Amino acid sequence: MSIKAKINLPGLDRAEIAEALANFGIAPKQVRMRAGQIFRWIYNYGATDWDVMTNIAKGLRAELAAAFSLERPEIVERQISVDGTRKYLIRMAPGIEVESVFIPAVSKTGALCVSSQVGCTLTCTFCHTGRQRLVRNLTAAEIALQVMVAKDDLDEWPSSEAGRKLTNIVFMGMGEPLYNTDNVARALDIICDPEGLSFGRRRITLSTSGVVPQIVPAGERTRAMLAISLHAANDELRSQIMAINKKYPLAELMAACRAYPGLSNSRRITFEYVMLKGINDSPKHAVQLINLLRGIPAKVNLIPFNPWPGSNYECSSWETIERFADKINAAGYASPIRTPRGRDILAACGQLKSESEKMRASERRKMARQNTPT
Ligand code: SAH
Ligand code: SF4
Repeated sequence: MSIKAKINLPGLDRAEIAEALANFGIAPKQVRMRAGQIFRWIYNYGATDWDVMTNIAKGLRAELAAAFSLERPEIVERQISVDGTRKYLIRMAPGIEVESVFIPAVSKTGALCVSSQVGCTLTCTFCHTGRQRLVRNLTAAEIALQVMVAKDDLDEWPSSEAGRKLTNIVFMGMGEPLYNTDNVARALDIICDPEGLSFGRRRITLSTSGVVPQIVPAGERTRAMLAISLHAANDELRSQIMAINKKYPLAELMAACRAYPGLSNSRRITFEYVMLKGINDSPKHAVQLINLLRGIPAKVNLIPFNPWPGSNYECSSWETIERFADKINAAGYASPIRTPRGRDILAACGQLKSESEKMRASERRKMARQNTPT
């Protein structure tokens, strides 16, 4: 007799929970109501135990508990930086490990930086994640679960309670969210549901290296805020440090930005610009950037380069960064310098990389040989 594995409900959306309940045998007339109740228990209350679900009869709870689990993925490692930043290494499945980073409030907003892929197909020269080959896209459930794991750790249930520490979500962890748009969009439907985790869509930021054909469709589908990892304002330099620019050069990228749904002065695009000493940080580069942004409601986020083991760049000096910021500011664009957070635990922008590696075909064959009984 085979033992059927339990279906884990956290991470599933309303429709998936309803379908699971229907297959389980809940009467068709009750499926919607029951799915709604369970959805609220999972996402508003963070339930990990069926016994808390007091609006479901005890007998039914026991039957549900036998068929469904309410588990979280395992936190393999949790590190806390001297500045309070928390980095989680989460095991989603065997060999599938991702990092998420909680950056506590400086003013009022505390952000969770989530991953959308294990590794990245792109190879931006300044980025640690770019050194990890793509293992696979994360599912919508695995993306939503990163938020739940952080909320467990921060003791932030129920979601509807005022005074949350975790207010914003940024897709600035591992991977390129617009190469996994469908799962990212479905995760946002879960994360933003007002009866559950209840994040406002304007509190979510998708950061892309510039996957041009996906920018407008992703905006229409998610209504989230957009950040562009720009890092250079001329094609020659951008192609050198970000290979994706060869496929989608700046003119196309800026046209997609201009067409981003909902763009206005109160909904600006954030352009991220990593400060690389002697590479992209001269006054001439600042002028190029100003010209490129002309007419776009934009703000520029200047990111001091965060080093990682084996990186070949240096961060621009503080004076250079300030001079650069002043120029951008004088042209009418807000240009905050991002304070690096969590550098001591390799949790800052561009430092994430898990040990999950995609095996080469030859390695897989070798493993298969070793595991095959002779
Ligand atoms: N793939 C997406 C999401 C990752 S976001 C993207 O590229 O937008 C991570 C942000 O940190 C991006 O803006 C990225 O360009 C930037 N970054 C990468 N490496 C960095 C480093 N070493 N120091 C500072 N910022 C870095
Ligand atoms: Fe991938 Fe973004 Fe890093 Fe580029 S900067 S390698 S797109 S994660």
